[in-house]
Amino acid sequence: MSTSYDPTLPRSHAPPDTIAALATARGQAALAVVRVSGPEAVPVVAARFSNPALAEAPSHTAHVGFLLDAAGERLDQVVVTLFRAPHSATGEDVVEVTCHGGAVVPQLVLRALLDAGARPAAPGEFTQRAFLNGKLDLAQAEAVADLIHAQAGLAHRAALGHLQGRLSDLVERTRERLVETTALVELELDFAEEDVAFAGRDALAALLSEADRLLSDLLAGARLGALVRDGVRVVIGGRPNAGKSTLLNALVERDRAIVDDTPGTTRDVVEAERELGGLLFRFVDTAGLRDTADRIEAEGVRRTHAAIAAADALLYVYDATAGLDAEEEAFLEKLAAEPPALPVLRVANKADLLPGGAGAGGAFLLSALAALAEPALLDPLCRALLDAVAAGLSDAEASALVVNERHRQHLERARAAVRRAQAALDRGTGGDTLALDLRAALHELGAVTGAVTTEDVLDAIFSRFCIGK
Ligand code: GDP
Repeated sequence: MSTSYDPTLPRSHAPPDTIAALATARGQAALAVVRVSGPEAVPVVAARFSNPALAEAPSHTAHVGFLLDAAGERLDQVVVTLFRAPHSATGEDVVEVTCHGGAVVPQLVLRALLDAGARPAAPGEFTQRAFLNGKLDLAQAEAVADLIHAQAGLAHRAALGHLQGRLSDLVERTRERLVETTALVELELDFAEEDVAFAGRDALAALLSEADRLLSDLLAGARLGALVRDGVRVVIGGRPNAGKSTLLNALVERDRAIVDDTPGTTRDVVEAERELGGLLFRFVDTAGLRDTADRIEAEGVRRTHAAIAAADALLYVYDATAGLDAEEEAFLEKLAAEPPALPVLRVANKADLLPGGAGAGGAFLLSALAALAEPALLDPLCRALLDAVAAGLSDAEASALVVNERHRQHLERARAAVRRAQAALDRGTGGDTLALDLRAALHELGAVTGAVTTEDVLDAIFSRFCIGK
């Protein structure tokens, strides 16, 4: 087994040697794939393969044979698929060995190939090589990592969109606008002596506001992107005994929270998840908001306030037979007045105890208890919740969601630079200040797709991947 790999060395400085890793998940499976990439990929596999045709075989061919250990003993019957450089996923020679799955065979196959001269791949190293060989841009490479980590349907679609380059396309379009603007401004600078104004101020302003709009669209997608990546946190608040735990159980259709009719039973914050409209929702049940001398319950109240601070929405539950008291009204009004506005849906619970036909004045009148047996009763509430969370985001192109926090930061900085340039233009500031801001914006956009990057950033990004990717 090769041990020459030094994990303390930045990977992008390492020479392009031959790497191998299990590309499929560990555990019970019919098949598994061990992937080998690098200049020696073909000889390494050929040295442990019973079919001599492999060594000289053309690209994009498959070969059946036995994978052998160092002593020539058969380990497994396998199919070997060959992709020669540059027509492979990494741009290097790639050999994929498809063997039988399970805990033993894939490990034996991998060990045999490591013995033959490959070294174990570091996390993300296959994708890193693809990036370094121009097979993917950085946003696309990161999409591979996001795809592996994507939890719910929408996150999966967004990551897939990035892989196909949609984010890169939009960023590129914005870059083109800025390059155009910069070119005009720099032309004007070159001829400053002659006092010629090539760049019509109006044309510049139009190009800048176009760039601003494109960036703002991308960043509006970023808010939804964060919801997609991290899930939507919905806090269920209200007085003890209002029915919060029952509602949580009905929402996630399982028995997660403790329900009891002694007020204050739910003292811990209890969380449960479900998917709604392609987003992962995390519902957080809290102890009541009642001010109390009871130390344990007081801790619960403190946690409720803390939970609301980190929430994307609040479901406020109260007993419909009692209504909201003055203190609760005041609490909800204060919440509505504080920016950033938190979507709040009021739930008038225990509708089954009300005389028929009673209304609930803007609240969702329902019975959490009945919804335990019939979850469809919560559909209107769920739809309203999804709408409230997605409100104002409908313009964002779902396929170009900015799921990635690194992308969001660079796009924020690019937009800040564009806005500085706009302000400079408005003030009639000279072209050199303008050019400085424009170059800063271009630099930030380049960092998203990897046109501008540093080795350290690359290493930080690729280490997020699993080994074998
Ligand atoms: P929490 O303290 O707000 O979490 O309230 P729980 O969910 O523990 O409910 C308190 C009590 O109210 C329990 O006995 C529940 O069975 C009851 N309860 C909850 N929802 C309803 C409802 O829709 N109708 C009726 N009749 N009782 C309910």
